[in-house]
Amino acid sequence: MTVLDLARPELRAIRPYTPGQWEPGLVRLNANESPWRAPGDTTERGLNVYPPPRPTMLTAKLAAHYGIEQREILVTRGSSEAIDVLIRGFCTAGRDGIVICPPTFDMYRLYAGIQNADVVRVPLLAERDYALDPDRILAALDAHTKIVFICSPNNPTGQSMARADVERVCRETAGRALVVLDEAYHEFAEAEDFRALRARHEHVVLLRTLSKFVSLAGVRCGLLIAAPEVIEFAQNVLPPYTFPTPSIEHVLQALSTDSLRVSEERVALLKRERARLSAALRDVPQVRKVYPSDANFIMVRARDGIAFRETARRAGILVRTFDDPLLVDCVRITVGRPADNDLLLRALAGAERGADA
Ligand code: PMP
Repeated sequence: MTVLDLARPELRAIRPYTPGQWEPGLVRLNANESPWRAPGDTTERGLNVYPPPRPTMLTAKLAAHYGIEQREILVTRGSSEAIDVLIRGFCTAGRDGIVICPPTFDMYRLYAGIQNADVVRVPLLAERDYALDPDRILAALDAHTKIVFICSPNNPTGQSMARADVERVCRETAGRALVVLDEAYHEFAEAEDFRALRARHEHVVLLRTLSKFVSLAGVRCGLLIAAPEVIEFAQNVLPPYTFPTPSIEHVLQALSTDSLRVSEERVALLKRERARLSAALRDVPQVRKVYPSDANFIMVRARDGIAFRETARRAGILVRTFDDPLLVDCVRITVGRPADNDLLLRALAGAERGADA
């Protein structure tokens, strides 16, 4: 049994699209493109021609950055697309399903819904600061479970999952389901990432994103990191030419030594601000609990979540509340620039004085 025995069999056999040839220096009359650049096109490649079928140069650069092999990476439009590719690749509509651990990133549910895949919920343990519940995750698996999604650090609760819990789920799901470890916020965490665990298990897949730590949410670049045979299979699900030329060029720029140095300094600043904001929020009477965070946001449980949100809004700040019954009165606050965080703290202090008056 290999991990691909879990995949949709008809997709394993699909005949791939054959891209037109690309040879720099030759006139391209083979791809029905425009021969001229659009006015204002300053890209290196030119936007009049299609991007490469796969962004191989970018994949090479990302492989070097993450210290893994190129054949272990699929570049996707945000890690959101990687979630979609995995669910579509492994879940037969109307038959298979996934396990998620709410409260968590809502896109797992959404993409499963789009694919008509079943969603089994094994809640995190709220009384233990939203720790994973490995016993119940393992008990929830059945013959139609194809993927277990674990988000660490978790959005929106913020904390990293205990390594022993994650390792146990990975060990005991081998041959039964994929485990997707979503590490979108890893760069803000203190704990080691799960690359070594991924290397030990062919059914363990990682998600990473360039949306957060290198400030490129608008570029839509994510990574699916998996065993080479899983990546090869995932290419059957993701058609060629999906990754746009400007995105390739922006990410290459962000991975230059100088840009990375700036990003690292900013991540360090956000981590210091996270500590400062968490400490200050603990003294805010509107806040009942500040959850530990390994991400670029902090979740708090307010006395009244809507009142908290509206206090922030009156000061010109948006924070996130949730409809989820697991998150009543919870507010997720993205860590901003020092001045943004000060503004929020002043608004909360001001609301308190207003309430006293
Ligand atoms: N995973 C998690 C946990 C997230 O919070 C997000 C975005 N908020 C994503 C994945 C998707 O990020 P992107 O598509 O920008 O890579």
